[in-house]
Amino acid sequence: MSPKASSCPICGQPAHPDTRPFCGKACRDRDLLQWLGEGYRVPGAPAADEMKKSDDYGVDSPPD
Ligand SMILES: [Zn+2]
Repeated sequence: MSPKASSCPICGQPAHPDTRPFCGKACRDRDLLQWLGEGYRVPGAPAADEMKKSDDYGVDSPPD
């Protein structure tokens, strides 16, 4: 990622310093929502990994 002269990955407009690499809060929020949406679908993602961890407490563990 280039630290300068980046454009908004959502709409392609020049990034705003306050919300870079996005042009504004709208695009930043939109990207975040997309990222979260994909995170739930992609196996091995941090979100899925945490779900697996917490799931271990619920599943029947083999007697030790
Ligand atoms: Zn934008």
